[in-house]
Amino acid sequence: MNIKISEIENTEKKVKDINFSKIFEEFNKDVPVEAKLQIEVIGTLIKISGRIKAKLNLVCDLCLKEFTKEFDFKVEEYYTKYGLNPNNSDEFEIKQNSFIEELNGKDEIDLADFVYQSVILHIPNKLVCDINCNGSEIVNKYIKTDFTDPRLEVFKNIKLEKE
Ligand SMILES: [Zn+2]
Repeated sequence: MNIKISEIENTEKKVKDINFSKIFEEFNKDVPVEAKLQIEVIGTLIKISGRIKAKLNLVCDLCLKEFTKEFDFKVEEYYTKYGLNPNNSDEFEIKQNSFIEELNGKDEIDLADFVYQSVILHIPNKLVCDINCNGSEIVNKYIKTDFTDPRLEVFKNIKLEKE
């Protein structure tokens, strides 16, 4: 789904609201990623903001079973068509605080790619199905071996005494 920036620029308010819904097979074959996004052209900047909801099928790092995790987060990203105008203080301020992607004169933003990348960025490095997950036997064999460090033994016997 490509968004033409010039079309938004030519509207009176230079704003476009979009309800996005698309199935990304890699995330979930049955449930689409939903997004409510607003695209706003501010000078040479293009701002995309809104909210993304997704339900992902993931594999737990501990027990290796599949589980689903729901994501619901806000986004705010900026693009620039031809670089920023150094004389515009608003743009300068935004540049200080955000990562801005250059479009190098392109008039289109691939919204599906934007949503996809945003979801990817929200997937945690460590995937655990549940805080009470006990892991799989195979994984436990490697992690929970009976290893004790004699230097740590002393802490087992510490008692907190009141003065
Ligand atoms: Zn698990």
